[in-house]
Amino acid sequence: MTAAYPYEVHDYDVVVVGAGGAGLRATLGMAEQGLRTACVTKVFPTRSHTVAAQGGIAASLSNMGPDNWQWHMYDTVKGSDWLGDTDAMEYLAREAPAAVYELEHYGVPFSRTEEGKIYQRPFGGHTTQFGEGPPVQRTCAAADRTGHAILHTLYGQSLKNNAEFYIEYFALDLIITDGRCTGVVCWKLDDGTIHVFNAKMTVLATGGYGRAYFSATSAHTCTGDGGGMVARAGLPLQDMEFVQFHPTGIYGSGCLITEGARGEGGYLTNSKGERFMERYAPTYKDLASRDVVSRCMTIEIREGRGVGAEADHIHLHLNHLPPATLHERLPGISESAKIFAGVDVTKEPIPVLPTVHYNMGGIPTNYWGEVLNPTPGNPDAIFPGLMAVGEAGCASVHGANRLGSNSLIDLVVFGRAAAIKAGEIVNPKERNAPVNSVEVDKALSRFDALRHAKGSIPTADLRLEMQKTMQADAAVFRTDKTLAEGVVKMTRVAEKMADLKVTDRSLVWNSDLMETLELTNLMPNALATIVAAEARKESRGAHAHEDYPNRDDENWRVHSLATVDGAKVTLSSRPVHLDPLTRHEDGGIDLKKIAPKARVY
Ligand SMILES: Cc1cc2nc3c(=O)[nH]c(=O)nc-3n(C[C@H](O)[C@H](O)[C@H](O)COP(=O)(O)OP(=O)(O)OC[C@H]3O[C@@H](n4cnc5c(N)ncnc54)[C@H](O)[C@@H]3O)c2cc1C
Repeated sequence: MTAAYPYEVHDYDVVVVGAGGAGLRATLGMAEQGLRTACVTKVFPTRSHTVAAQGGIAASLSNMGPDNWQWHMYDTVKGSDWLGDTDAMEYLAREAPAAVYELEHYGVPFSRTEEGKIYQRPFGGHTTQFGEGPPVQRTCAAADRTGHAILHTLYGQSLKNNAEFYIEYFALDLIITDGRCTGVVCWKLDDGTIHVFNAKMTVLATGGYGRAYFSATSAHTCTGDGGGMVARAGLPLQDMEFVQFHPTGIYGSGCLITEGARGEGGYLTNSKGERFMERYAPTYKDLASRDVVSRCMTIEIREGRGVGAEADHIHLHLNHLPPATLHERLPGISESAKIFAGVDVTKEPIPVLPTVHYNMGGIPTNYWGEVLNPTPGNPDAIFPGLMAVGEAGCASVHGANRLGSNSLIDLVVFGRAAAIKAGEIVNPKERNAPVNSVEVDKALSRFDALRHAKGSIPTADLRLEMQKTMQADAAVFRTDKTLAEGVVKMTRVAEKMADLKVTDRSLVWNSDLMETLELTNLMPNALATIVAAEARKESRGAHAHEDYPNRDDENWRVHSLATVDGAKVTLSSRPVHLDPLTRHEDGGIDLKKIAPKARVY
């Protein structure tokens, strides 16, 4: 069926899809570069998931003790379990302080030290002396509402710089013209009209896909729409097997308790009241990196030392902390614990469980945010006209495991980098090519087919089946058996997409259709995750494979690439960048310091 949907065309230099921290920082930067910039977002900008970020943003400001970017870089390299790209990790750690000061000047209301400097707290995996020294206070915080503060500030600044916002517009598909991206097709949710953004550069800042799982800390809007669009364009996704479980999701609701709670002195106990992390990570204890803490909690529960009637969770104690600290530094989570667990944190421990929190994998890019379309001859080949930043992208700085507070800094550093690059390569004087109506019609036919889907499975049912399968078979611990079964089950789930049933045919505020579109995006992300996990025969970072408990640098220090076509996933790989931007002799990083070794905390 051909779709007869009229559409309005908007010509811009740049269209940014997404108004979370990454999308807003990119939008602001593009506008500052003098590029005509549109920012399209399915939710109001300040409702993006970034608003929920609590703990803080990492940068080696040295406000609370000695620190430097090389130590931050080392921690990031080690945190990534040696899978991150060295050049990108260096860029992140080096640029972080400037990016935070920039936020300060834009107006982010950071918490302060006595002397009026930006307050910084300890966070998991952030250390001194290349991992040899004590934990460092590197995570800059605005109480436990850091993401909220950043998001509101960046939105205000974007408006001030005359970026144009298209709010509650849902991006459906990329427009690909002769091997380059020339914009995006959108559906306006409140009146049902169709809009084509015809642009020289399209930036995907659509966030993660936590909702591929049953229990996640991420917002219901985190449905991997950017990854879905990229997969449909035939481009690969990278390192999708690496899914971060945050140690402290509130038992039952999945709502997050920030790692800042442990940074401020909180600790975990099992049913015997034992501070078990001391056994597993003698040096950094409760502040070991997230994958490590999540695994230790899972082991405690498995071995019968969980708390609660079903011995299926763990306790997080904050009740020993001074009430003033809780009030000043952790007001938000005190409230969350009350609402979601009925717990008064000044008196009782919070019931917690490892919960899906972050996607290390995503759309492969270089450290300028340019999307890669690797070919056998050129693993770093760029796909022109397309960028990806934030959790949707994979630069890759987080490799196999992200350190807490390294995502917010990734959003602003790479959002800014993308804008700098676009300033160089996008010529505002050049006229845009005419809209590729054939591609637009293709996107609208897909939209129309879903709108009229007359199968037998409601979207919510199939989504639940996917979420349960991912939760059970691509979990904290994985085995050959669970993964192989998971791949078979997920393939079957994905095949059922052809049998979806949408009941609401309207175009205005049709949440049934929107959730169906989101499911078409979650599905390729989920499939890529489980298929890539099944293939990776080692344990690295968040990928804990019980049949291959060791990291295998010889065979597996490579990025995995997954190309998804319907229910079929094709895997390939890309080498990890081992070269830094600058070497020790030039004030850069000492390669010997960041050479792979065992990852102990
Ligand atoms: C509860 C929680 C707490 C966290 N705390 C921290 C922390 O303290 N420190 C830290 O470093 N990291 C933290 N993280 C991680 C970090 O917050 C996220 O990785 C980050 O905010 C993601 O930002 P983003 O800009 O990539 O995407 P998001 O903030 O998720 O924004 C995505 C944007 O894309 C838009 N969008 C998506 N799909 C479409 C579409 N189809 N059409 C149009 N628009 C679309 C949405 O409207 C939204 O504006 C936390 C995460 C969670 C879930």
